[in-house]
Order: sequence, then structure tokens, then C-alpha cells
Amino acid sequence: MAEDVPALTVVRDVQSLRRRISALRAAGKTIGFVPTMGAIHAGHLSLVDRAKALADAVIVSIFVNPTQFGPDEDLASYPRKDEEDWEVLSAAGIDLLFMPDADEMYPEGFQTDVRVPEVSAGLCGAARPGHFDGVATVVTKLLLQVLPDYAVFGEKDFQQLAVIRRLVIDLNIPVDIVGAPTVRESDGLALSSRNAYLTEEEREIAPALHRTLTTVANDLAQGEDSAGCCEAAVAALEAAGFSAVDYVEVRDAESLAANPASGRPRRVLAAAHLGKARLIDNVPVP
Ligand code: AMP
Repeated sequence: MAEDVPALTVVRDVQSLRRRISALRAAGKTIGFVPTMGAIHAGHLSLVDRAKALADAVIVSIFVNPTQFGPDEDLASYPRKDEEDWEVLSAAGIDLLFMPDADEMYPEGFQTDVRVPEVSAGLCGAARPGHFDGVATVVTKLLLQVLPDYAVFGEKDFQQLAVIRRLVIDLNIPVDIVGAPTVRESDGLALSSRNAYLTEEEREIAPALHRTLTTVANDLAQGEDSAGCCEAAVAALEAAGFSAVDYVEVRDAESLAANPASGRPRRVLAAAHLGKARLIDNVPVP
């Protein structure tokens, strides 16, 4: 790093975070915010770029939120790369890195829950009970801690984005939620911290998820029937080597309602297991 560039500051408590943000506000800066669980990859960095284009100062958080993991999920093994993340985010030119620990986010006596029941039902909400309650609660807290002008989230987690858009409206949180497109490997696999779980052989199979969703989207655009396309997609994923397919579904791209009315924008979404990884992806119907 050049000597005249100050090192990226990490804050770990809400009080210090607020002090730093007050200073940025006092200097007249607008704030863009990118919440993450770390193991930073090019998908996260695309959100940082978007935030930089929108706002004067960019804050990233890294918090592996325990309340959004189920009891049999990968909380303990979720990749943690604090030092590498700091280096990559320093190089990306962000202004502040917020890395609270679980006690800072959930102090003794914590009991408040934010739930967005309709948007959270079905899709990943069916396979991961309570997951979106954990997401909604932690994102509400992060947004209230940072109070940014813009918060940028990936379309990669499409249902999560819909949950967050809903809660911000419902709770009158004064922030613009910005959705950013999914960054992919050249073979179509969506970048994800969980791709690290894939063996070499599984990594070869993994792009079948995006390929299959693209086929469904194109077939739907040709007027084919949604139930038939989704059934064929589940069979294609199983034949490709996915061990279990949680769902392949077509939903309204805005409300996420099932059976979108004709003329409405549609999205094809899927989740499937491959070895230790549970991969999710989604594409628009053209
Ligand atoms: P995570 O660290 O996985 O919780 O993700 C933090 C943010 O990055 C979320 O808004 C994700 O939707 C977004 N994200 C994750 N993977 C990608 C990707 N491949 N392309 C764009 N955004 C992504």
C-alpha cells in the first residue's frame, strides 16, 4: 500500500461505528453500505463498486450471523478470512470496515425478532426454517447502526433481497435498497463463499445449475408450461450429479408470488445440494 494512504480502519463496536459515521456526515459525505459475511470475492466487490458509484463513502460489514444458520448448517465451518478480506477491501478503497462480534450484535437479554412472513415463506424459507428471520433481524440492525443513504445487495440471494426491500418499506427505514446483478465464473457458476466447499469433481458439475435455469427461462419465454419445465430441470440437476434439489420454481420477479399472472416479470429460482455445499441461483425469464 502507498505510504500516504491511511490504512483501512476496522471498527468492532456500534459506538465507534457511529462516531466514524458522524464524522463522515459532518464532512458532507453520503454513505453507501455493503453488508457481507466475509470471505470476500468478486461478487462482493461488484457491490462495493456499485456503492462507490452511488455514494461518497463506502462502509462494508463482515458478520457471520449465527441466527440465520440452522442447527445442522455450516456456521462452524463457514469460511472466515479476516486478514485476506481486510487486504482486498483496503485495495478496493472502502472507507470503513465494520466487524462486530456476536456479543456486540446480540448482547445479553436480546430477544427482538424481525419477520417478513409472506416473502420468507417457500423457496429457501421452506428448506431453511427461521433463516430469513435471522437475516431480516440482522439486516435491520445493521441498517439502523449505519443509517446509510444506499445499501447494496446481490440478486444472487434473490429472496433475501425481496425480504429486505419489504422490511425497509414496512419499518420506514430511510435507505435506498439497491439490487446488483450476480457475478459469475466464465462457466456460469455464481460466485459464492460456499463454492469453497466443492471438490474438484463437484466444481465441474456445479455450472449445471445456471445452465439448467437458463434452459428453463428460455423455454418459458417460448411459452412452455412452467410445471413441466421445473420438473425437467429437477431431473436434469439430479442427472448432472446434484444429490438433492430443494426446489426449482418460477415466481413473480417483484412480489415473489407463485403462479405469476401473464405479462408479469418472472424469475426462475433454484437451490440444490452438491457434496457439502447447498448452491442457490436464479435468472430472469427473458
Ligand atoms: P454473503 O457474504 O454471501 O452474505 O453475501 C453478501 C452480499 O453479497 C449479499 O448481498 C449477496 O447477495 C451478495 N453476493 C454474494 N454472491 C454474489 C455474486 N456472485 N454476485 C453478486 N453479489 C453477490
